[in-house]
Amino acid sequence: RTEEYIRQIALHDALTGLPNRALLDDRVSVAIEQQRRNNTGFALAMMDIDRFKHINDSMGHHIGDRLLKEFAERVKACLRPADTLARMGGDEFVLLLPDSDASGAEHVIERIRTALTPTINVGTQEVHITSSIGVSVFPHDGLNLHELLRCADVAMYWVKEHGRNGHKVFSREIDSGGADRLSLER
Ligand code: GH3
Ligand code: MG
Repeated sequence: RTEEYIRQIALHDALTGLPNRALLDDRVSVAIEQQRRNNTGFALAMMDIDRFKHINDSMGHHIGDRLLKEFAERVKACLRPADTLARMGGDEFVLLLPDSDASGAEHVIERIRTALTPTINVGTQEVHITSSIGVSVFPHDGLNLHELLRCADVAMYWVKEHGRNGHKVFSREIDSGGADRLSLER
């Protein structure tokens, strides 16, 4: 039981109970192996909650934590058993959708958007959460997790810069913007 407990805390996020980055790494390696053998693809979606700092600052961290949990629950309810939702840290989550292409991912994202439409009640207040989502596809956008996450991240930032609350599938055209942003930040 102790080993099981250690395994659980090593591979999961303490707040939401979702798989963490290490477990996502593992699941993506398995997906890469499987999809390579079957000659199929899979999709990754990186999701970051919009203006979450503002919610924390105005309502307190404990409310922020409750919202993160509720966000995780609602997104999870939109997925199939083979899908993985992982918390990367902060308000950033990654979805692994095996046997899915960009249009399959867009389908799931539409379901997620609908699931996030009802407001969340926290105490006496109601909060509406939106997120910005970037999608990358194996093997089209990258052959390993590192490349796929980079592309999903570029697409997610594209959405942040274009009004938030939406999604974007990675394409080469938006890639140069990411490099420019990085050099500007440096
Ligand atoms: P943006 O739309 O650009 O994403 O704006 P944002 O305010 O959401 O900015 P960003 O995603 O960079 O910041 C995430 C914030 O999430 C930073 C931190 O205050 C908060 N945060 C990170 N981890 C936790 C946590 O475990 N609990 C709570 N309540 N807040 C967290
Ligand atoms: Mg955010």
